[in-house]
Amino acid sequence: MDKKLTGIPASPGIAVGTVHLLRWEVPDVPQHIIPDDAIPREIARLHEARTRAKERLVTIRDRVERTAGPQEAAIFDVQREILDDRELVAGSEALIRQNLAAEKAFEIVMLEWRERFARAGHPMLRERVGDLKDVEIRVLTLLLDLPDHDPVDLPKGANAILVTHDLTPSLTVQLDRDAIAGIATDAGTRTSHVAILARSLGLPAIVGLRTATQQLSGHETAILDGSTGLLAVNPTHFEIDAYRERARQEAVEEAELRHLATLDAVTTDGVRITLRANVDLPEEADIGATSGAEGVGLMRTEFLVVGRATMPDEDEQYHAYKRVVEAFGGNPVVIRTFDLGGDKLPVGGFPSEPNPFLGWRAIRMCLDQPELFSVQLRALLRAAVHGDVRIMLPLVVTVDEVRQARKLLDEAAAELERRGAKFRRDVPLGVMIETPAAAVACHTFVDDVAFFSIGTNDLVQYTLAVDRGNANLAMRFTPLHPAVLRLIRRTIFTADQHLLDSAVCGEMASQPLMAFALIGLGVRQLSVAPRSVPLVKRIVRGISVAAAQEAANAAADAATAAESEAILRERLAEVIGHDAAAD
Ligand code: PEP
Ligand code: MG
Repeated sequence: MDKKLTGIPASPGIAVGTVHLLRWEVPDVPQHIIPDDAIPREIARLHEARTRAKERLVTIRDRVERTAGPQEAAIFDVQREILDDRELVAGSEALIRQNLAAEKAFEIVMLEWRERFARAGHPMLRERVGDLKDVEIRVLTLLLDLPDHDPVDLPKGANAILVTHDLTPSLTVQLDRDAIAGIATDAGTRTSHVAILARSLGLPAIVGLRTATQQLSGHETAILDGSTGLLAVNPTHFEIDAYRERARQEAVEEAELRHLATLDAVTTDGVRITLRANVDLPEEADIGATSGAEGVGLMRTEFLVVGRATMPDEDEQYHAYKRVVEAFGGNPVVIRTFDLGGDKLPVGGFPSEPNPFLGWRAIRMCLDQPELFSVQLRALLRAAVHGDVRIMLPLVVTVDEVRQARKLLDEAAAELERRGAKFRRDVPLGVMIETPAAAVACHTFVDDVAFFSIGTNDLVQYTLAVDRGNANLAMRFTPLHPAVLRLIRRTIFTADQHLLDSAVCGEMASQPLMAFALIGLGVRQLSVAPRSVPLVKRIVRGISVAAAQEAANAAADAATAAESEAILRERLAEVIGHDAAAD
């Protein structure tokens, strides 16, 4: 092979395909002064580029409507309207008349607009910033005669390996699973949302490759191994055959694991562990339901919003939740209220913040916009008629947030009552424990909530002060750090003392070694990616709680994450054998 790029394994599976390089960045525009007699020609060039960009948006809109649905397609209408805006057109023409080339004039006007929108007080205007950027990329690409990279053009069966810096929402909605075999990004980590989405879509993915978009030129043949994080460029036939064989073996192993779906998740010393599924998209509900999961431990509702121009209304949300609830029969379905912000943004995003992960996200955003939050709460109370729905609040740091949310929940119930709608009033309300504040002070929540669910992705990020999405810090993102283990142990202990339900729904739960540690720390409910349910069940059935406890307590007493991991690895290998522990 020519090149071997190594990133972070994000979604398992092997893809052999052709690199589709997607550069979605505002291009550099050279300074170019034009003579007076060229002004009419430049204005004509601007209009021609606008017209072609609008035609392109119509094509994309139609395709996205067919593949993803009308709501997802609506973003492209918004972008078309921006291109027709009188002020935008007049502003660009005025600058051309001051002897700037069309591309420079358009760039300056768009820059002004983006800054103005980002500062705007009204959220709807702030949400348009991402659209402006998309429009700018489209028009400048045409004016500068650069290659167009839209993934929407890929024909079915293209078997493309999409290589891009990061996957933005407007790109995500263009992804056609029949055309794309795998995803590779420069940015991101295992717990960033590109990775989570790729796992949901069942697409092999590698993130955190850092420089893949610079090192590749497109059209190369490549093997993407989502389990090891290896992207092999221009492999030999021999290497391709070897990977195809591995893919076959993985399929056989998956089939073997599938038979576990019907078996109980009980440890060798007879302790039952409840395994639930994390569902990110309503379409995933069926895979989750057949994986052997006993319900949903985390439904990430923000993926109903990401990639769209408008928020889903009450009815649309109700149908999405109902679909998941019904797929799981009478089993519990924990639905988390919108965890927007951070790296999960609707199209157009929100105003950029200096520290988005410490910013206006999740429960903070919902409580500050009760009109938006109440729509979701009403949809949840209505969906609860169809099964065992539980509502979970993300990123809480204080019990006040729970009390405010409960007040809004009561108001939502009152409104439904006034309307005469069918709904359930007594829906359990729980919190995610994903900040050190919530973990350390978890005892302050016990009288106000029905359950805790530990979100280890954020808990690790905030405890270790390591950005979960920063590929340069991936080695420092160590969930087995003793500080993290102690916070988890404390949370579970407090829940048990107060007879509260508790679970773990972060990525830790999906990884066998960490699942072993969690069970040792007292966790009895794990919520994992649907495809990991059998893998975790196999571990559960091979270990005893006694061995897990002894190992996890020793790990929590270690000085470093490396020591803690070594202890757990050694103990797990003793319990289930070296080969199985290496998974
Ligand atoms: C977590 O933080 O662990 C979690 C489950 O939530 P998310 O990954 O969606 O932030
Ligand atoms: Mg989280």
